[in-house]
Amino acid sequence: MSAPPPPYPGKGQEAGYPAQPPPPQGYGQPYGAPPPAGQPGYPQQQGQTTVVVAQPAVTVVQQFRESPVHTRCPHCQAEVVTATQFETGSFTWIICLVLCIVGCIPCCIIPFCVDGCKDVIHTCPSCHQTISRYSRL
Ligand SMILES: [Zn+2]
Repeated sequence: MSAPPPPYPGKGQEAGYPAQPPPPQGYGQPYGAPPPAGQPGYPQQQGQTTVVVAQPAVTVVQQFRESPVHTRCPHCQAEVVTATQFETGSFTWIICLVLCIVGCIPCCIIPFCVDGCKDVIHTCPSCHQTISRYSRL
């Protein structure tokens, strides 16, 4: 009768692992010595970094573009956020002409469907007067 194999082969494998690989001590040592104090990369001690986020007054010159603008309506003197409408403008027609000249006839209607090619009309939501018109030319 031959001896059976060792009942716990797993133990043999565990023994094979000596231990977890040694930590890379080589990296930790050179870092520990040199920095005397006040590392440039760490502005922790300079926590007084005053991030001045000064909010400018709302009286900045409003630029009427594609997005609604918070402004004062010159007609009813109300503080409103303008309502924007897209209207076919000269830029729209120019794009259309260019597309026609290039030869893309079916594409010449695209500018009329794309708001990015149209002028933007800013109207007052309370008195419905036109406040400004943003032309792309
Ligand atoms: Zn108004």
